[in-house]
Amino acid sequence: MSLIRHHVAGKETGAGERTGQVWNPATGEVVGEVAYASVAETEAAIAAAKAALPGWRATGLVRRADVFFRLRHLLVERQDELAAIITREHGKVLSDAKGEISRGIENVEFAAGLVHHLKGEHSEQVARGVDVHSTRQPVGVVGCITPFNFPVMVPLWMAASAIACGNTVVLKPSEKDPSASLFLAALFEEAGLPAGVLNVVHGDKVAVDTILDSPDVRAVSFVGSTPVARAIYERGTANGKRVQALGGAKNHMIVMPDADLDAAADAAVSAAYGSAGERCMAISVLVPVGEETADALVAKVAERMATLRIGDGTDPSSEMGPLITREHRDRVASYVTGAAAEGATVVVDGAAQEFEGDGFFVGTSLVDHVTPGMKVYDDEIFGPVLSVTRASSYDEAVALVNANAFANGTAIFTRDGGTARAFEMDIEVGMVGVNVPLPVPIGAYSFGGWKSSLFGDSHIYGPESIHFYTRSKVVTTRWPDASESQIDLGFPSNH
Ligand code: NAD
Repeated sequence: MSLIRHHVAGKETGAGERTGQVWNPATGEVVGEVAYASVAETEAAIAAAKAALPGWRATGLVRRADVFFRLRHLLVERQDELAAIITREHGKVLSDAKGEISRGIENVEFAAGLVHHLKGEHSEQVARGVDVHSTRQPVGVVGCITPFNFPVMVPLWMAASAIACGNTVVLKPSEKDPSASLFLAALFEEAGLPAGVLNVVHGDKVAVDTILDSPDVRAVSFVGSTPVARAIYERGTANGKRVQALGGAKNHMIVMPDADLDAAADAAVSAAYGSAGERCMAISVLVPVGEETADALVAKVAERMATLRIGDGTDPSSEMGPLITREHRDRVASYVTGAAAEGATVVVDGAAQEFEGDGFFVGTSLVDHVTPGMKVYDDEIFGPVLSVTRASSYDEAVALVNANAFANGTAIFTRDGGTARAFEMDIEVGMVGVNVPLPVPIGAYSFGGWKSSLFGDSHIYGPESIHFYTRSKVVTTRWPDASESQIDLGFPSNH
């Protein structure tokens, strides 16, 4: 069994005194053993990032941008290999793995525009002989902690912009699917990134806490579940760091009576069961408005579910793969088996579906008459379970969404522009789709939820990431004639 080790200052490191197992979720077999970094190993990665900082910071912007142009090319060229790595350790189907790579490439493309993004402002003659300009400078070493569900895209959400801004990075990817980060680090270096600018340490809370407690780490980006996001935000900010911590989700899709119900059913099935529901933007609650809409929509969704092909992600005919671990599969199934006792109606019971082999598969489920207060509604399940919470009016549907603790994404399906516009104004959620079930913003915009879906005030990637990964400095300049110099204890006025 090969040991998956860390990548520090361009070299493989790590004794692997503590390790964890990496599984192929489709077969239920252990495919690797990953080293868990100790405090000393994590500190060594931080030290490598710190050592690489002056050189990278001093590298000309155009040369920095070159790395991202080359990286984009390499990611496209090697996407089949990278997708195979994702599927082997995560389980998602290969086409979905390529989709994630393509969304990650958007962040590389954005980073390649760094010469533009890092421009400051200049005001001439704010007072006689006085000019002012602003500049954005790197924060320093950045810690990036990422979840299992997007082992390529989420590291690129962070590392691309952080590095573009002149910072150096210690990435701690999910221990469940660690290999993709190593492949990414190798591609970055092949693209010309100096060793030490992007370091990868594997592991658990030990590595994460070392990053959070190190005075040499100036900013932390985190994506994962809400309880961990909250804890990371609190510990990181208490230690004086800048932290953005993106958490979990419970995304509602409202379907108005005037919507095209076939298109809405297609969208609901795609967004609920794609990647086995293990997406932070997955639709997990369908909110039809009116009983007639609800009855028709539930029937149409159930009909489509019967056609879904669940299987090994490497099989091109599979549309949905397994869940990440056996424990997670069992936990997801328990929500479906418990839903009837909570008073909901299980329309399609995916928990009862049987699969050959030892993979961590579960069928797709549809649960109707779900209401707040039921566990199936309140918890983020993160699996292929779609709840239906019926609303009698637009106002009731909006109030339901706005009362939820999570506020990552949401969508409305309607043919009425006025309703869509009102929704955009009324809804208290960070990312909104109008007839778009997964409104993940393109790389030129930033991504982030509200409320318990994000701790901190910066969204991730795009323009807000330039702000997050830099500190602004404002310089006021005067070139006086020495003969006019005099002492003046008054507060400097520009008037
Ligand atoms: P997780 O919170 O279990 O783990 C995320 C990262 O934190 C991993 O690197 C993990 O090793 C580390 N970690 C776990 N427990 C920790 C602890 N106690 N202390 C310090 N570090 C710890 O999340 P996950 O299961 O890998 O990913 C799924 C979750 O991520 C879901 O809740 C999903 O909604 C969320 N997610 C959110 C977004 C978003 O953009 N808001 C995107 C993707 C995933």
